[in-house]
Amino acid sequence: MRRYGFLKHSLVDYPGEVCSVVFMPGCNFHCAYCHNKNLSASVRETGVFLKDIVSHLKDAGRRFITGVCITGGEPTLYPETLSYLVSLFKEMNLKVKLDTNGSHPDQIRLLLDQVDYFAMDLKTVPSRYAELVNACDTLGDTIETSIHLLLSMPIHRYEFRTTLSWQYVDEHVVDTLGKYMHRDTYWYLQKCRLENIKMDAKDVVAEHARILHCCQIAKRYTQHACLRE
Ligand code: SF4
Repeated sequence: MRRYGFLKHSLVDYPGEVCSVVFMPGCNFHCAYCHNKNLSASVRETGVFLKDIVSHLKDAGRRFITGVCITGGEPTLYPETLSYLVSLFKEMNLKVKLDTNGSHPDQIRLLLDQVDYFAMDLKTVPSRYAELVNACDTLGDTIETSIHLLLSMPIHRYEFRTTLSWQYVDEHVVDTLGKYMHRDTYWYLQKCRLENIKMDAKDVVAEHARILHCCQIAKRYTQHACLRE
């Protein structure tokens, strides 16, 4: 029986909702700054079963929990399980948010009518995504397909997120990504955090002035670009 990572309450993982967070371990990317590399091991040891998640959502949680954020790892790697979870939570009258790295647009398309809110990472320009997956020439096209799927939805149903890790993102990358945005697309730039990660800060963490410059560039493309701490 599958175990999940589970956070009972969160005020920051689903805009406008008090949510629970369900973590599905396992990812097809290898971002150097990943904070979830040990997720599989920790879920194996301390993860919870779905019946316990449902029990929480039905009982104490249901009094104030209004949504569930399904995150990873990368949830779209497990289409049958993901589809089941989305249907289950929707049947409980909860709003559902899906976090994704955009590598499976087929899954996004399948869930367009069920998932209430999508958050997709934009890790660099599509042409450089091969750096994240040990080379896959077509991944850039796949990511572009996912970007356009989200952009086809009303703006209140999706957001893009970009971690300002200098290995993958600089001012030029932000400028290139900006060209995909609508004028009112929500696009959050996030500082790269190094807690518990063995990396040299100078390789990945931008100086504040450059972070602000990236935000200024992003704002040229959408009024809803901002820095998320
Ligand atoms: S896509 Fe997310 S979970 Fe996967 S390696 Fe990158 S940061 Fe980690």
